[in-house]
Amino acid sequence: MTPAERTTALEAIATEVRGCTACRLSTARTRAVPGEGSPDTEVVFVGEGPGQNEDQQGRPFVGAAGGLLTELIGSIGWQRDEVFITNVVKCRPPGNRDPEPDEIAACAPFLRRQLEVLDPALVVTLGRFSLATFMPGARIGQVHGTSRPADASTGARDAVAFAMYHPAAAFRQLALKETMREDMTRIPEVLIEARKGRATRASDASAATPDVAPDAPAATPAVTPTAADIPDPAPEPAPMTADPVEPEPIVLVDDLAEILAAVDMHAILQEPPPETDQMRLF
Ligand code: URA
Repeated sequence: MTPAERTTALEAIATEVRGCTACRLSTARTRAVPGEGSPDTEVVFVGEGPGQNEDQQGRPFVGAAGGLLTELIGSIGWQRDEVFITNVVKCRPPGNRDPEPDEIAACAPFLRRQLEVLDPALVVTLGRFSLATFMPGARIGQVHGTSRPADASTGARDAVAFAMYHPAAAFRQLALKETMREDMTRIPEVLIEARKGRATRASDASAATPDVAPDAPAATPAVTPTAADIPDPAPEPAPMTADPVEPEPIVLVDDLAEILAAVDMHAILQEPPPETDQMRLF
């Protein structure tokens, strides 16, 4: 998809979200909140659902929690309009209650389609409802600050999910603010690893693709091979030793500046965003 096609596709999804009446949340909303950000980004942040400010403005994370999220994104040298920000449910649950399972299910096709269009390398989950979507069964207290392959049924077909607490939690429990800051510093290296994984899978897939058209007749050898032409069978793999394979050590960020330089979001973008003075709304 070209950037222009992605923009058009995201705008079409946003229009549907604004007119959606698939669940009871539509009856209480002021404005639906489809999401916003760069259509060309590799990184998508997914929160829980709009709060009061978001419901009034039709934009995600614009209240106090949004202020902290924007600050955290800035702390690693990125800007909020260089990523895409959206939510599991696109309409405000009344009184900021938790979204119900049937509301999440009704809204899931919108998130899935947004992720199919964006095809991010990295999805950052904010809070437990987003976590449950991308890492089913995981517990936030145990997995925050870590990553694993995102559940592909979400629409993020080849992405790594990185778990973070919800920014609003840091207002209830002040110590979580520092935890979130620390977790955030890991994001650039996680993105680098996610990119490497995607590049490897893409090159494996293209190596496995035959050069001939799929329906072309199979090439036949000019002469029947003799025994001398047939290569020796591959050697038997070495037997497993008793030593288990050591897990990859966790790489600690000891030179954040170096990593930030490697993950310059401007370098990530294929071209500068079309609007520089105004955030694109989706
Ligand atoms: N909390 C969320 O989960 N999403 C928002 O957009 C705002 C607050």
